[in-house]
Amino acid sequence: MEILRPDTLAEALEMKAAHPGARPIAGGTDLMVELNFDRTRPEEIIDLARVPQLLEHGRSNGTRRIGAGVSYTRLIREVGEELPGLAIASRTVGSPQIRNRGTVGGNLGTSSPAGDGLPPLFASDAVVEVASVRGSRRIPVGEFVTGPKRNALEDDELIVAFEIAPATGPQQFSKIGTRNAMVIAVCSLSVHLWPEQRAVKACIGSAGPTPIRATEAEAFAAAALDWDARAPLGGSAARQFGALVEAAARPIDDVRGTAAYRHHALGVLGRRALQWTWNEYRGRDA
Ligand SMILES: Cc1cc2nc3c(=O)[nH]c(=O)nc-3n(C[C@H](O)[C@H](O)[C@H](O)COP(=O)(O)OP(=O)(O)OC[C@H]3O[C@@H](n4cnc5c(N)ncnc54)[C@H](O)[C@@H]3O)c2cc1C
Repeated sequence: MEILRPDTLAEALEMKAAHPGARPIAGGTDLMVELNFDRTRPEEIIDLARVPQLLEHGRSNGTRRIGAGVSYTRLIREVGEELPGLAIASRTVGSPQIRNRGTVGGNLGTSSPAGDGLPPLFASDAVVEVASVRGSRRIPVGEFVTGPKRNALEDDELIVAFEIAPATGPQQFSKIGTRNAMVIAVCSLSVHLWPEQRAVKACIGSAGPTPIRATEAEAFAAAALDWDARAPLGGSAARQFGALVEAAARPIDDVRGTAAYRHHALGVLGRRALQWTWNEYRGRDA
C-alpha cells in the first residue's frame, strides 16, 4: 500500500485525480478500523494531516467555515460557543483520544446514519464544500448523505470544509447508547431553535438509512411555540412534538436495539429536547 502525503490542497486534489481509488485519511478513527479488519485494502492512502487548508476555520458572510480536518477537540474548544449543538454532539464522540484525532470531515466521509456530527449539521442546514481538480461544489448536507455509508462525493473529490450558521437560539443533542461513553448511538436527536426565523429544526440520527429531518415535528413546534410572549410549553405540545419525531424515524432492528425501542426513545428525546431548548430560550434576555 502506498501512502501519499500532500502538503497542500492542490497537491491532494492532484493525487486524488491521479488515483481515484485512493482512500483519504484524516484522523483515521474509521479508516484504520476498516483496514485492521481487512474490510478495505486500497492501493493508495492519501494522508491529509499536513494539508493546512483542511485544518483552518473562519467566517464568511456571517457563516462559520470549518475545515474538514478540524478535530472534535479543536471544534469544541475553538468554535463550541457559537455551535453549541455540534459541540454537545462532539463531546459524545468516543473518548478524548478519538476526539483528538477524529474529525467532522471524517464523519461526513463515512456518512454513517449513526455519525454523531451529522444530526447537528442537518439541523443547521449546513453545506458541505467538496473540491477536485475540476473545481469545487457546495452541497447541502441533506443532499450530501445519500444512503447508509454513501454520499455524493465523486471519485476524484475531497471534502474541504463545511459551512454552518452560528446558533441564534438554544440547541440540544441527545444520544442514547448502551452505556454512557465510547458508544455508537442507538438513536439520537438534534433540536435547534432559530428564533429570528421562528423556526425549529430537528434531525434524527441512527434511526434510518440517513439522518432524517423530522419536518412535521418542526412545523408543529414552530406554530405551537409562543415566540413573542415566551409562554411556557404545555405538556401536551411537548408530547405531540415527541410523537411526530417518533413518527418520522425509520429505524430497523439491529445489534444495538430494536426498531420499537428506537421509536419509543425518540418520542422521549423529542419531548425533552424541545422542553430544554424552549426553557433556555425563555430564560434568555429578550
Ligand atoms: C473507539 C471509537 C469510538 C468511536 N465513537 C464514535 C462516536 O461516539 N460517534 C461517532 O460519530 N463516531 C465514532 N467513531 C467513529 C469515528 O471516530 C468518527 O466517524 C470520526 O468522525 C471519523 O473521523 P476521522 O477523521 O477519524 O475519519 P477517517 O477515519 O480518517 O476517515 C473516515 C472516512 O472519511 C474519508 N475521509 C476523511 N477525510 C476526508 C476528506 N477530507 N475528503 C473525503 N473523504 C474523507 C475516509 O477516506 C474514510 O472513508 C468512533 C471510532 C472509534 C474507533
